[in-house]
Amino acid sequence: MDTIERIKALSDAFGPSGFEDDVAVLVREELDGYETFTDHMTNVRCEKEPGSDKPNVMLDAHMDEVGAIIQAIKPNGTLRFLPLGGWSAVSFPSSAFKIRSREGKDIPAVVAIKPPHFMKKEERNTLPPVSDMVMDIGVTSAEEARELGIGIGSPAVPDITCRYDEERGLFFGKAFDDRIGVACAIEALKRLQEEELPCNLQASFSVQEEVGERGVRSNAEALKPAVMICFEGCPADDTFSEDYMIQAGIGRGPMLRHMDVSMITNWRFQKLALDVAREKGIPVQESVRSGGGTNGAMVNQNYGVPAIVIGVPVRYIHSSNCFCRLDDYENAVKLAVELCRVLDAQTVSKL
Ligand SMILES: [Zn+2]
Repeated sequence: MDTIERIKALSDAFGPSGFEDDVAVLVREELDGYETFTDHMTNVRCEKEPGSDKPNVMLDAHMDEVGAIIQAIKPNGTLRFLPLGGWSAVSFPSSAFKIRSREGKDIPAVVAIKPPHFMKKEERNTLPPVSDMVMDIGVTSAEEARELGIGIGSPAVPDITCRYDEERGLFFGKAFDDRIGVACAIEALKRLQEEELPCNLQASFSVQEEVGERGVRSNAEALKPAVMICFEGCPADDTFSEDYMIQAGIGRGPMLRHMDVSMITNWRFQKLALDVAREKGIPVQESVRSGGGTNGAMVNQNYGVPAIVIGVPVRYIHSSNCFCRLDDYENAVKLAVELCRVLDAQTVSKL
């Protein structure tokens, strides 16, 4: 697949936390030059030079996306659900979803809203809790829903097909958190495949990040990275911040995060990344965040591994409809590739 087709396919792939199988298939197909291993959580991993004594540099991206899981069927066939990952209640009502049936068929659904005609005055400006929301698949009874193979535990994701505007280099779709990161890791691995590197390049395509960074531990246990480069689709802030506070605007380059709620980035590694970006003329943005959290933090905390986060800004992350840009993706790949070229044993030992 070419780059655009790959990003579109990754965006469209069905893969809420815990159900990443389709994404894993795509990743393995795209990494046909590498020997990949898939564990029983569906984490995928590979390395360029297994057993080498060069420092292990692990690229990571999570394959899961925010979605939902059906909790119960109501007698009228509408479906109670729980969010998978961090949604805000405001982004659910009237969003289109697809629910995967037991037989693997995707059934269109909508988070139901009462038509304004039937709303009481106060209902029009209030938001019900998610526990009162339901998904509707257009059936008239619980029995009919069950006949479609939909029931307790059925997973769901937003129902939108990715579009690319070539003139503006702009993608519109779902799940760029973190499929744009997955695309970055795949592209970096491809570009470096034939190159003699000072490090052993490794890759971790991990599951269940959105529910608490659960998958990456298994990959880190197996790969034993010396350093980690974490690709993320990160929340863009450029449509609601004053210019001086914009730290992740689309089209301004990938974001390097100094701090979020789960990690203070190793400043030596962060400085190296910023220096490399400057030397190579790669535009980057820097951020200090009061929220957030990534796989980088999980590996950093549990294994003492210096980790940086290279984030591709994504507008309206953790909702159904998102934008991201090709130039930010390309600059994220470039930065990681250049870093892999300088991360030799001596440099890693000083981080
Ligand atoms: Zn993410």
